[in-house]
Order: sequence, then C-alpha cells, then structure tokens
Amino acid sequence: MKNLLRNWQGTKPPHDASPLEDVAHRLAVFEDIERGHSGWFWATDASGRLTYISPAACERFGLSAGTLIGQPFTSLFETDPENPGERSDRPLQFLLGAHARLADVTVRLVSDRCAPGMRPAWWALAGQPKLDVAKPGSGKSEKGGAFHGYRGSARDITLEYERRIEDSRLAEFDSLTGLANRHRITRRFESMLAAFKGTMRPATLMMLDLDRFKQVNDTLGHPAGDELLRQVAQRLTRVVGTAGEIGRLGGDEFQILLSDQEDRGKLGELADKIIGLVSQPYRIDDNHVVIGVSIGMAIAPFDGTEREDIVRAADLALYAAKHGGRGQFRFYSSDLKDEKEERRLLEEALREAITTVDGPDDSWEAPQLVMVYQPVVRTDDHTVVGFEALMRWEHPQRGAIPPSVFIPVAEDTGMILQLGAWALRQAARDAVLWPHPLRIAVNVSAVQFAHPDFPRIVGEVLAETGLDPERLELELTESVFMGDGEVTDAAFKALKLLGVRLALDDFGTGYSSLSYLRAAPFDKLKVDRSFVDSCTLSDQNSAKIIAAIIGLADALGMETTVEGVEAFDQRDVVCAKGARFIQGFLYSPPLEQAVVLERMAGGQLRIPPEGPKRHRPERRSVYRRIGVIHEDHRYEALLRNLSATGARIEGLVGVPVGTSLVLDLGAGQLAVVTVSRSEDATIGVEFETPLVSDGAGGLVTRYRASPYALAAAARMASSSAPQFLEVEVRKRA
Ligand code: C2E
Ligand code: MG
Ligand code: MG
Repeated sequence: MKNLLRNWQGTKPPHDASPLEDVAHRLAVFEDIERGHSGWFWATDASGRLTYISPAACERFGLSAGTLIGQPFTSLFETDPENPGERSDRPLQFLLGAHARLADVTVRLVSDRCAPGMRPAWWALAGQPKLDVAKPGSGKSEKGGAFHGYRGSARDITLEYERRIEDSRLAEFDSLTGLANRHRITRRFESMLAAFKGTMRPATLMMLDLDRFKQVNDTLGHPAGDELLRQVAQRLTRVVGTAGEIGRLGGDEFQILLSDQEDRGKLGELADKIIGLVSQPYRIDDNHVVIGVSIGMAIAPFDGTEREDIVRAADLALYAAKHGGRGQFRFYSSDLKDEKEERRLLEEALREAITTVDGPDDSWEAPQLVMVYQPVVRTDDHTVVGFEALMRWEHPQRGAIPPSVFIPVAEDTGMILQLGAWALRQAARDAVLWPHPLRIAVNVSAVQFAHPDFPRIVGEVLAETGLDPERLELELTESVFMGDGEVTDAAFKALKLLGVRLALDDFGTGYSSLSYLRAAPFDKLKVDRSFVDSCTLSDQNSAKIIAAIIGLADALGMETTVEGVEAFDQRDVVCAKGARFIQGFLYSPPLEQAVVLERMAGGQLRIPPEGPKRHRPERRSVYRRIGVIHEDHRYEALLRNLSATGARIEGLVGVPVGTSLVLDLGAGQLAVVTVSRSEDATIGVEFETPLVSDGAGGLVTRYRASPYALAAAARMASSSAPQFLEVEVRKRA
C-alpha cells in the first residue's frame, strides 16, 4: 500500500473522475492524515496479526514497520487504564476475540516491545471487524459472515492520559513532597483502624513538627522553606522505608502511620532515628540550615480506638515533646492532658519573672531570676580557671524551674532577647566584682545570636561594666549556623573585633559538622555531658569520641572543656583521653555570686575533686501508688526508686526473695518482676524485661496490656486470700 501511495503522491486527480471517487486522491488524503500525526491506521488478518500500521505509529514504538508486521496485535498493548502499573491485555483480547467494535479503548504500548529508552505511550484505539456480508440463501446469517480481521485507527493520548493520572494523584498526594496528603493519610488511618479493630492489631500514629522551620522560612524565604520540606520528606522516607506510610498535612506538619508495632522500645528507637536524621544540617542555596523535630506518638487500641482519639492523644504528646525541650519524642500518657494549659501559665509566669529583673533599677521586689556560676577547673592542679554563668529561676510558688524548661519557652516567645541581654549584663556586672580576673562564660541562644543587634549589645555591656573583653567567653551551640549565613558571618566578625572569646557548646550532639569549625573562629570546644555519662560503661565509643574531639581541638589550636564529670572513674577516663579542663559536679555545682566572692576573698582558687568513686546510672526517685499482683491477689504499694532494670517498692511485708510478681504501673503497663531483696516493708525487684524511655526522662514498659485484655481480665478476676501483709507507708519529706 505504501508503494501505491508513493506512486500516486503529488499527482492530481484526472479531470474526468470526481474527487470523491478518485482512488489516488483518497490515498493522498489518507497519507496526509497519517503523516500529520493526527491519527494512524492499523489492520489485522483473521488470526489477529498485524498487517498494516501507519509509519508514524511505528515511530512511536521506535521500530520499523517490518519488525511489527506479523506480530499478534494484542501483544503490542496492555490495557487497564485504572491500574496503569498493572500489565493486562485481557479486555482488548476479549473484545477482539468477540469480533466486537472497538471504540476509544485506552491501551499502553508494551514497553519491552518498544525500542529501549522510549517514553511510555498511551493510545486510544478504534476499530471494526471486517466481515463478509452473508449472501442471501447462503445459509449464513449476516452476522456470521466470514471474519477477515480488523481495520482500525489509533490516536496518541499520552499527554491527556498522564494529566488525568496526575490529577488523581494530586488529590491524594502532596505536590511539594510527593508524600500522602491530609486527605489520603486520614482515609488510610481510618481504614487501618477499622480493619484492625476486629483483629485487635495495634496501629501507631506518629505526629511530627519541625522545630525552627518558621525561622528558615522567614529568614531564607519560601522557596528555601519548600526545598527544606522536600529534603525532610526524603529523609523521612529513608528512615521509615516500607515500615509505614508518611504524609504531609500541610506546613511543617508530618504524620507517619505504622501498623503492628506496639513495642514502645522499638517505636522510641525509630523516633530517635528520625530525630537524629532530620536534625542533621541541610544545604539549601549555599546556606547551612539546621532544624529539629519533635514527635508525639499514640498507639491504638491502648490510647483509644477511634481516629479522633488517637489524633488528639498524639497531638498532646507532640505538644509535650515540643515544650519538654525540643528534639524529643513523647508517648501519649493520661498525665499529658494539662500540658497546654501548663505551658500557657509558664509563659505568663516567665513574663512576670522578667519584670523582676528588667524593671527600673530601684523598684526591687525579690528577683525570681538569678545567675549562678559553675567553676571550670584545670585537671592537673585543680585550679579554677573560670566560671560558666547559668540562669536560675526560682518561682515563689512553683519552686525551681530548670533552664531546660524555661529557655525553650523564652526562645519561642521571643522573651529570650530580653532574658539573654539581662544574663549577659548580670554576669558581666558580677564578674567585674571578683577579686581575681577569671574568665566568665555566658550562654547565648541561637535566637539571640541571629538578631542583628547582638554584637552591639555585647559591646554596650563591655563598655558599661568595664569587663575586659578577653575575660568574656560566649557559648554558642551549632544551631547558630542555621539561617542567614551573612548575618552569622557578620556577627562572628563583629564579636572578634570586640575581642571576646567564642566557645562551641554541647559539641558532639546533634549535627557536629567539621565545616562549622572551619567557618567560625572558636577558641574552645565543650564536650557534651552525654559522652561523659556513658564513658565508663562497657560501650567504649563515648571515651573514644571524647579522645577524638580533644585531638581535633588540639590540632585546630582550640581549648576543650569536658562537661558533666560527676565521679572519679569518669575523671580518670576523660583525663586519660587528654582532658585538661573539667566542669562538673565532681568539682563543684554552680555557685551563687555571694559564695564565689567569699571563696575568692579567702584566696580559695583550688577545688579538690569530691564525689562518688564510680558513676552510677541515675535511679529516679518516684512516689507513686501502684498495684502489685501476686497469684490472684492484688495489693496496693508505693513505688519508690525506679530504673530501667529494677525498682524499690514500699508497703509489703513478708515477701520472700525470689517471688515472682506482676507490677501494675497503670494504663495497661504490667511488668513481670522477681523480688531480689526484702527487708521490713521494702522490697527490691528486678524487671524481667527492662523498661524503656518515654522520651522525656521517664520510663515505661515496652508493651501494654490492651484494653481488650484488661476488660477480659477484670471479668475473670477472682481474689484469693492475701499472703503478704499490706502496710501503710507515709511519704517522707
Ligand atoms: P549548658 O550550657 O551545656 O550548661 C551545662 C549544664 O550542665 C548546666 O545545666 C549545668 O548545671 C549542668 N552540669 C554541669 N556539671 C554537671 C554534672 O556534673 N552533672 C550534671 N548532671 N549536670 C551538670 P543547667 O544550668 O540546668 O543548664 C542547662 C542548659 O540551659 C545549659 O546547658 C544551657 O544550654 C541553658 N542555659 C542555662 N543558662 C542559660 C542562659 O543564661 N542563657 C541561655 N541562652 N541558655 C542557658
Ligand atoms: Mg553552656
Ligand atoms: Mg553544654
């Protein structure tokens, strides 16, 4: 046919034939259509093999007509437009087998029939079976005329089709990150909970909120914020993998759904991994950006069985995580209910506390905020070489509120600017009164540092107080490197011009990047307390990291201070690793200005170390009523010390060592324990399975008895006679 066409091409119809009857003219029109790509033609024989296909259509396959002619027509296509990923040619095969008319059947070219590297293409097929018209009297019905194959046309609809798929994807997925959107994740969670209810399978909702995202958006602009969200999404996908479904609900709010995981130890580990990875620095248009993430978790059916309940629970946990000091995870527990209100009250109280220091100088009520000073000691001769200024808040009713609680509140509300300026001024005022001109280190929040006025304020304080700039050391954390690189660089330059010293605090936590050390003129690195905490444990990595940090600082000509040394064995390890300066309770806690003055006046500039020989992991003192179940009897007792591996319980007399008990720690937390010590009304127990962190310094059981199991147990509970004596114990002061 092609030759035929070619022979006739360009020739005019003979004058005597009408254009409509003229074969050559009709073929020319036909070919123009084919070449114009507005439609193609195809034909098959009775056995379904291809006998014709427009040359332009062959181009779409990237193959010559020769390769395609003679192939079974159905082997070239796959259908099922609903599931574009799924290969199936059944509907087309079915239609052709039935010799049915084809009208707009959407098919996809089978990719392994195409030349390598061809883009997937979608066609709409139309076609007619070619049947003999049955002759009257031949005995065959008209419909039953002999079948000679198909004649049809095709149209490339790839663009429209992809747009259609994209539209339906948009309805389900977040266009910025490609994660599930609010609509999809809500629907998925609902159907998950509905499906799991019957089988009592657990489902976890993790809610994530980025810390300091708003700052990035504000300082670097929305495109940078978008890029950051994309990178966060990629990291989340990397950590979570196929274990769960991730969604972005809008803004910097993400959710992760996890099925069949109720082990709070494992969930906590996953949350820690997410926090670790998301907190690594990002590179966005030549800026280093550092953010954090807080995570709240709630688990069905333990914390509720309806979606609304789990969402509310996870939200409360997230709130608690954010305000418990950021970069934390938190499991929902029923004590969290009031934290939102609690936080509001704290904000109010802090605002009030600031007026007690920031008011006009002569209007003094007792200031709630004071600065205290912790000595930094040289290890070889125990000489005090300087002090770190630390803020203390003593609330008239609530008592001492630690900086880990109120500094984040101050940062969130902007009060840190006032508070930080006050701390700097107060520390400088106090330091100039010391008889010995020792160094004074002051902590500076990243929020303060990012403020363009910061160097000016430092200059003013130096001028006002007359403090020698060489004596002032500003402690910064790596989070100062987030945000606008130009402002940061300018601040470093201005501070160096003033002649003050700079220390990098909490080094080794979060996102330690060597490029920071190159970028900024630090005089000192402070090794974070977390390494010292674990340096005497069997895991030797912490000790090695301490040695590596000290080695690095030495090589760069920086000093190091090791923080948080509490016991002699820790001191021995860090000294063996090269530590020359230590700040820790082994030498001294932070001291009030009056005490500092008194000691200095007495010429006391050496502090001998004093403290425990060995460092013991912290046992938490608690005072909580719990249930103790032995055989079929339930006792009430008081939980005192609690650690991951054991507890001390008061209120039961006559429990033999070796007895197996179940502790009911509340909210479905049942723990199997063995009595290891028993004396009067006090027993010591060891947990069969160690407790795990709740993300906020507390301990929880890995597993909980589900509400279903608890309800069943309550129905069956029978109470036998008590074997131990239950006695009343009073809370000691
Ligand atoms: P940081 O700057 O790393 O301060 C060291 C913290 O470790 C202090 O806690 C100190 O009391 C504690 N510490 C020192 N030696 C030991 C030890 O041997 N064992 C234990 N367990 N802890 C030890 P503090 O005073 O509660 O402050 C916590 C954090 O709050 C500080 O960490 C700092 O980041 C922030 N902060 C405190 N005061 C200020 C301030 O005036 N301004 C700003 N922006 N932040 C402050
Ligand atoms: Mg510090
Ligand atoms: Mg520190």
